[in-house]
Amino acid sequence: MNKSNKKFLEKYSRQIIMDQVGIEGQKKISKSSISIIGCGGLGTSAAQYLSMSGINNFTLIDNDYVDITNLNRQTLFTENDIGKKKSKILSRRIMEINKSVNINSYEEKVTSSNIQKFINKNSIVLDCTDNFESRLLINKYCHYNQKILISAAIQNFDIQAFILASWLHKKNPCYKCIFPELINDNEASCDEMGIIASVAGLAGIIQANLTLNFILGLRDNFREFILVDCINFDIKKILVSKNKVCKVCNS
Ligand SMILES: [Zn+2]
Repeated sequence: MNKSNKKFLEKYSRQIIMDQVGIEGQKKISKSSISIIGCGGLGTSAAQYLSMSGINNFTLIDNDYVDITNLNRQTLFTENDIGKKKSKILSRRIMEINKSVNINSYEEKVTSSNIQKFINKNSIVLDCTDNFESRLLINKYCHYNQKILISAAIQNFDIQAFILASWLHKKNPCYKCIFPELINDNEASCDEMGIIASVAGLAGIIQANLTLNFILGLRDNFREFILVDCINFDIKKILVSKNKVCKVCNS
């Protein structure tokens, strides 16, 4: 056994030991490639756990700078990072977790003219943005490009999460099937509504967990809307279906 194989087995031994993972599962994790759009509360948390689990290929996208108001929830950023580009700092921190990781980072805001280059190479896209306009855009391109979309949103103590593959089956919904109308972002963003550190972190971890469940073939329900109330710890799973008049996935 060569040195790098030995390190691989040792580093991920606590995962490999499980029947649900094994060496084959760990290899699937390390070969997977993931785009994370938005390196804020959701993106930093999801990136941290996916990187620790052994994902080796990331594309990170965010055009924002670290601000002091981000530090209550955006894990991996510190007071020393204030004023620096989020995607750059997050790349650096992920490389500290895993030296062999491949990262493409982009300091751009996602738009219809650049999204293709952010998602082309990777089969899984994590929507970690904080506004409906971006979510609807990402949803549309994931549908047209046949990408697995893992989305989450947070507000106060509540989390919403989904894994979507609207292109895979005629009954699978897309994000627009569930939210057909554009919701006013000014009323719905973290800045306006407030968010507590642990809820943001948990939402990113739920996205990371949905990603690993999919990669390992453990579970993928593409018709499920997950709602978590983090005060009472009520978890609801609502079955959702394709909207027959959806302009994205029914055309
Ligand atoms: Zn749809």
